[in-house]
Amino acid sequence: MRIGTNHGSLSDRIMSRYGDSPSGMVESALEFVRICRDLDYHNIVLSMKASNTKVMVEAYRLLVYRMKIEGMNYPLHLGVTEAGGGEDGRIKSALGIGTLLEDGLGDTIRVSLTEDPEFEVPVARAIVNRYKHRTSEPALPVTINIGTINNFSPFDYQRRQCASLAGIGGDNVPRVIADFSAHRELTLDDLKSVGYEYHEPTDKWYVSDSAPDFIFLGTSECNIPLPTTLRLIVDAHKFHSFTALDSVKVYPFYSSPGEFAKRVETGAFCNFIYVDAAEATDDFIQQLKRDHQAVLVVGAKRDHWLATVRSLFFRLLNEGLDLPVVVKRDYQALDQEDFVLYSSTDFGGLLVDGFGDGVWLAHNSMLKSDMNRVTFGILQAARVRISKTEYIACPSCGRTLFDLQETTEMIRVHTEHLKGVKIAIMGCIVNGPGEMADADYGYVGSGPGKITLYKGKEIIKRNINSDVAVDQLISLIREDGKWVDKQK
Ligand code: SF4
Repeated sequence: MRIGTNHGSLSDRIMSRYGDSPSGMVESALEFVRICRDLDYHNIVLSMKASNTKVMVEAYRLLVYRMKIEGMNYPLHLGVTEAGGGEDGRIKSALGIGTLLEDGLGDTIRVSLTEDPEFEVPVARAIVNRYKHRTSEPALPVTINIGTINNFSPFDYQRRQCASLAGIGGDNVPRVIADFSAHRELTLDDLKSVGYEYHEPTDKWYVSDSAPDFIFLGTSECNIPLPTTLRLIVDAHKFHSFTALDSVKVYPFYSSPGEFAKRVETGAFCNFIYVDAAEATDDFIQQLKRDHQAVLVVGAKRDHWLATVRSLFFRLLNEGLDLPVVVKRDYQALDQEDFVLYSSTDFGGLLVDGFGDGVWLAHNSMLKSDMNRVTFGILQAARVRISKTEYIACPSCGRTLFDLQETTEMIRVHTEHLKGVKIAIMGCIVNGPGEMADADYGYVGSGPGKITLYKGKEIIKRNINSDVAVDQLISLIREDGKWVDKQK
C-alpha cells in the first residue's frame, strides 16, 4: 500500500497546525503509518509529492529523518507531481528525483509528464541508470555530520549568505556564465543565440530575460561591440589584451589555486579561481580568507560529483568564508537527453540547498542556445531565478476532461511571456485543485466542455465553456494586473 501525501491537498487540521509545509506533509503521512503499525501491517511505500521541487526534496528528507527517530524504515516512492511536459517537465523531474537519489534516498520512481505515458519511462530509466554504475566508494574520505554545519538545514531552504562581488552573490540571483571558449572568436551571432541582439541602426541592444550575465572566452578573441550589462571572463594570460574594452567589465580566470598563487599582479578588480572541491587544501581555504577579491569556481572530477561539491560548501560555511561561488561542470561526453537530466540533478541539487551564486555548464558540441535554455530552465525549476512563465500541468488520466497537451500548448502560446506567473492546467476538478498547490491561476476541467478558473485556491469562474476559457483566463490575469503585452 502506498501512503502518499500531496503538497496541495493536506487536510485542514494539518494545514492549521503545520501550514502547507514539508513538516505538514510528513506528519500527514506518519499519522496513517502509525495506524498501519498498530495493526502490524508493514507492506507500505511512502511518497511525498509536490510540484515545488524545494518542498518535495525537503519533505522526503524530513520523512526519512522522522522515520529514523521513530524506528521505522519504509521504502520511498519518488516523484515530482504535475511537472508539466517537454524539457521543463524533464528538468523538474530530474531535479527533484535525482537530488534525492544522490542523497541515497528512493526505492521506486515515477516521472510524471504531460505527455503520452510511453514518453515517461525512458526519462525515468535514464535518471535511474546513472546510478547503475556509480562507484560504491564513499563520496568523501570523511563522514560529514549535517548537524555540525553552520547555517544549514537539509529540511529548510536558506540561501548561503555571501558577499557580492562583480555582481555575483549577495542578494543577486544566481548568475549564468555561457562558455564560448571553444569558439575562435566571439561574434554577434553567438551573442544573438543566447539572447543579446544588436540593432545596428539605433545602436541598441535587445536583451532577453534569459540572457547570460557573463561570457567565458578562455583564450578566444572578441572584436565586436558588447552590451554594457554583459561581463567577460577570460584566461588570466589574455587578461591584459582585454583591458582596452573599457566599457565592458572583464575578469581574469585562473584554472587552479596553483596558477593563482603564481599570478603576476594584473590589477583586476576580481579574480575567478577554479578549484576541484576534492582538492581544495586547508592552505588554500585560509588564503581565500585573506583574499577578498575572489570568486571561487568549483567543480569536481569524482563520480559523486554533487556530494563532493556540496562538501566544499559545507567547509566554506564552517570556516565562515563568504566568497561568492560559481558551480561549474563539463558534460562533453553526454548526449543532449542525458545532459538535460544530469545537469538538472547536479546543479538543481545544489541550488535547492541554497548553494551556488553562479552556474556554468560546459558542453562544446551542443548549441549555445540549447545550453542557455537548459541552464535557465534549471534555475527556474529550482525556483531561484525566474525568467519565464511556470506551468504546472497534470499528466492526465481516465478522468481528464479535455486534451491536456493541446490545451497546455494553447495556453502556453498566449502566456509564455508572463515571467514569474504560475499557471496550473488540470484535467479534472476531482483532484486538480488539490494538486495545483502554489499556482497563481488554475484552468481546471469541471465537466465535458466545461472549465473552472481559479485564482490561487479561489474559484473565480465556474463551468464556463471551454471555447472561451483561454480568453477568460487571459482576462482574469489582466484584471489581476499581471498581464503584459508580448514584446515585438
Ligand atoms: S485528470 Fe484529475 S486525477 Fe487525472 S491526473 Fe489530472 S488532476 Fe489527476
